[in-house]
Amino acid sequence: MITRSSTLLHCSAPDEPGLPAPGGWQRQLAGAIRDPRELCRRLGLDASLIPGAEAGHSLFEVRVPEAFAARMRHADPDDPLLRQVLPLDAEQTSPEGYVTDPLQEAQHTARRGLIHKYAGRVLLITSPACAINCRYCFRRHFPYQENAPSRSQWDDTLDYLREDATLREAILSGGDPLAASDRQLAWLVERLDAIPHLKRLRLHTRLPVVIPDRVDGPLLEWLTGTRLQKVMVLHINHANEIDEAVAGACARLKQAGVTLLNQSVILKGVNDSVDALEALSERLFEAGVLPYYLHAFDPVSGAAHFDVADARANALVDELRTRLPGFLMPTLVREVPGEASKTPL
Ligand code: SF4
Repeated sequence: MITRSSTLLHCSAPDEPGLPAPGGWQRQLAGAIRDPRELCRRLGLDASLIPGAEAGHSLFEVRVPEAFAARMRHADPDDPLLRQVLPLDAEQTSPEGYVTDPLQEAQHTARRGLIHKYAGRVLLITSPACAINCRYCFRRHFPYQENAPSRSQWDDTLDYLREDATLREAILSGGDPLAASDRQLAWLVERLDAIPHLKRLRLHTRLPVVIPDRVDGPLLEWLTGTRLQKVMVLHINHANEIDEAVAGACARLKQAGVTLLNQSVILKGVNDSVDALEALSERLFEAGVLPYYLHAFDPVSGAAHFDVADARANALVDELRTRLPGFLMPTLVREVPGEASKTPL
């Protein structure tokens, strides 16, 4: 049971051996690469890529933490991690059918920062910020500023959760919920914990992957302090994203009683091969994470160059099934606006 004392609002910072320095992640976040020229220079890329990178950056800014950049191959524009974050000229073109809100989330915004699409669970936009800006993101045009609740608006959101006894799960999303401070997260989780019909706390996050030091003592303190069952859905698209530091972060989370799942997106030039998908599932399991969803690409404008046709995605998954045990198979799904659940392809 969560402690209802001020300790939650003033997380002490355990300085245990093996844990990252408390708050070190915030310095890494502040120091993330935000300049397309700097990204190209840091990776030793050809200068011819700079104009396209700057054009894409003007539409959706570059943000790449050093801990993630360090896993990329030098001077390789086809590196699967780089491709996820390097802006391209192609982002300026948007073929018909590619839109700014492919999941029509605006229609399901029940309160500022609260999306209620599916029975039994609601999604809370906990932080408008991400630690990394993924070029294919279906929320790359999301109006975060209109959906970033203030403390008083959180009261309204929490009332919504208290009043709907059918809810069993609160999903913290964003942006990236772990971009919020531990003080804010502890405040929120304490209030969710006090809603009797809620059973589960789910976090959708990429931060333990892109800055593994995010899983530090202050985070583990509020995470272990709640009675709610904890599920963390990571977002990893390629096996190369999981280095020893990420595996260490996963181990700390598992030790804190968190069920770890992964969702990825099938992306042209990143993971659209059976070998890449097989390696991803294997590496996830080595790190204690179960593959959960493989999302079909959502047709968001500016990212059409990542699209993989459904027939090809299905063919890849069919072959993947011949190589992996069932528990390492992610489910290939698409989120169809208006449907009561994800739709298997
Ligand atoms: S919401 Fe997730 S996919 Fe989108 S930019 Fe942030 S971390 Fe990347």
